[in-house]
Amino acid sequence: MTYEQFSTLYNAQAACLPESCRCEDAMMRLYTICEKLVENNRKYNLTAITDPEGVVEKHIVDSLLPLALLADKGILTPELRLPEGKMLRLIDVGAGAGFPSLPFAAVMPGETTRILAVDATAKKVRHITETAQAAGIGHIAAEAGRAEELATGRLRESFSIATARAVAELRILVELTAPFAAVGGWVIALKGSRAAEEIPAAEKIAKVLGLGAPEVVEYTLPSGDGRALVIYKKERKTPEGYPRAYAKIKAGV
Ligand code: SAH
Repeated sequence: MTYEQFSTLYNAQAACLPESCRCEDAMMRLYTICEKLVENNRKYNLTAITDPEGVVEKHIVDSLLPLALLADKGILTPELRLPEGKMLRLIDVGAGAGFPSLPFAAVMPGETTRILAVDATAKKVRHITETAQAAGIGHIAAEAGRAEELATGRLRESFSIATARAVAELRILVELTAPFAAVGGWVIALKGSRAAEEIPAAEKIAKVLGLGAPEVVEYTLPSGDGRALVIYKKERKTPEGYPRAYAKIKAGV
């Protein structure tokens, strides 16, 4: 895909994205993310979606649209900063090939944003690091490890926002993300249109983890596909002993 092809596809879908997503510099970085994904996919087998339309819509625009919704809700300012002006620390759990974290980093201001992408698979983490370098994005780092193990160490309760896209059903996902969020911060799950159906099974564990009542924001991609964000505020500290070992999380006991 040439940059011209990318910008035509992207501009056709970018009208509803925040201003900072539409400047030339950000678009160059997003283009590099697409190019690296296709290039590294041959080596690392990162994604099933490699056609230009699919990459732009299902990876780039799909990752960025939530930022517009978070700005609408006042969780972020229109410039994609925290309203209090503090450094925005964001962790993307199960980032895979870097979604949504790489597109986030491409459009969020470097002076006020620090992003950490974590994934259990080392080759995916390597892809994220390589892509960030190629795109000239300095405020994203990537770390290999399992979320339930990383969340017991120095990363615990130290992020303003914890996100996860397409990682697990909600009751599992909250346990993999909530321990990373600081009290007063947010857990944001990027889900398909049927996310609301997963909320009852996650209710009890979300409360135990210190999360407030969830808010579901449903929206559609420019193509018409349905999506939903599930947004939780972290209200209390996550008790020791959580997250549990993965087998226990999965079994739900
Ligand atoms: N967020 C990306 C990848 C989704 S695939 C996207 O939307 O494109 C799910 C990813 O979660 C995989 O890369 C897998 O390695 C990772 N993952 C699943 N469980 C995990 C865990 N417990 N800790 C860390 N990573 C995990």
